[in-house]
Amino acid sequence: MTADATRVLVLNSGSSSLKYQLLDMNGGTRLAVGLVERIGEPASRLVHTPLAAGGDKRERTEPMPDHDAALKAVADELSEDGLGLDSPELAAIGHRVVHGGLKLTEPTVIDDAVLKEIERLVPVAPLHNPANLTGIRTAQRLRPDLPQVAVFDTAFHSTMPEYAARYAIDVETADAHRVRRYGFHGTSHAYVSRETAKLLGKQPEDVNVIVLHLGNGASASAVAGGRCVDTSMGLTPLEGLVMGTRSGDIDPAVIFHLERNAGMSSEEIDALLNKKSGLMGLCGDNDMREIRRRIDEGDKRAALAFDIYIHRLRKYIGAYTAVLGRVDAVAFTAGVGENAAPVREAAVLGLEEMGLAVDARLNAERSDEARIISPEYARVVVAVVPTDEELEIANQTYALVSS
Ligand code: ADP
Repeated sequence: MTADATRVLVLNSGSSSLKYQLLDMNGGTRLAVGLVERIGEPASRLVHTPLAAGGDKRERTEPMPDHDAALKAVADELSEDGLGLDSPELAAIGHRVVHGGLKLTEPTVIDDAVLKEIERLVPVAPLHNPANLTGIRTAQRLRPDLPQVAVFDTAFHSTMPEYAARYAIDVETADAHRVRRYGFHGTSHAYVSRETAKLLGKQPEDVNVIVLHLGNGASASAVAGGRCVDTSMGLTPLEGLVMGTRSGDIDPAVIFHLERNAGMSSEEIDALLNKKSGLMGLCGDNDMREIRRRIDEGDKRAALAFDIYIHRLRKYIGAYTAVLGRVDAVAFTAGVGENAAPVREAAVLGLEEMGLAVDARLNAERSDEARIISPEYARVVVAVVPTDEELEIANQTYALVSS
């Protein structure tokens, strides 16, 4: 790597999508961002925003049969901005990989052994790891000479103590099938917990933070002195909070009940719990903006969905307060956490005894910056801390290849 190789391309590959950002690590500026959707369909769509060039958003709709075609289209767009992927300024490609299991707990330069391990974990991440592997192989074909780094969604949670990570089921069965709690959204929880410490003017080692990542997927984590000690997602992202389309926690016997009494197959129940549950299942909408609009119009189903969402969230805040013993801050992040003031207000309403409160005026303010929304008197700082998973992946990737 040459000294002026300061750019990192971050790739987040889904089964039919490819999100990307090109960053310059000399200052952490974003040069270009974009997304390819509907890969493999006749009308694949690429939306590219050349931030460094200051140009307008560009869109292309054309058939992109596979990720190779999608990444080539991305490379063409970047070349048009003078940011081609053949540039010597590109230091590495950083990949978001969902599941790293127990072995891959640090950002890792990808070699054959790493690829094999990501592949071995497909049974515990059947939707995500195959797509991530496709993205990696595609990028390797495009720039075989360049370091490719995997940053794992599970990694930050690998510090959970065994008593938080294990389910209370037969140990042999659990171990034989790698059944345990791994947690996800780790890159976001890591970034947000550190940024929260910064907002408090402290070192991460000196603060205990509850991070509430509330996007379409949602998870909570308890972070003690910079290390994750518990998180709400488990073997898969299904466990924990009520999400856009996922149920979060349920009695596992619901599954047997539906199998035996509703004649549903495990595939159907899987789809029910992951895609047709949560806010969507409860009221037919998974977008918090739409739910709030319906509540304002007096819609009772939307109001009940909101109450169920908030009830679960409050239970996790209480649980993680007990797990941490002392809480310095509660940080809201991701689409809902950063934007939905009513969610933040309801999540801590009446919890002054626990040191939690929000100031109505601060909570209502809109900003892209990390900010405190609790009143001076509150013992626990409540904050809105925008997440930036791509920047975190780029930072970790660059730190690894430039060390
Ligand atoms: P993902 O999990 O897909 O990365 P995001 O973190 O982008 O999701 O969050 C998306 C969700 O954020 C939307 O489904 C919507 O519920 C919520 N959201 C986005 N903007 C707002 C807003 N202004 N007010 C309330 N909710 C919002």
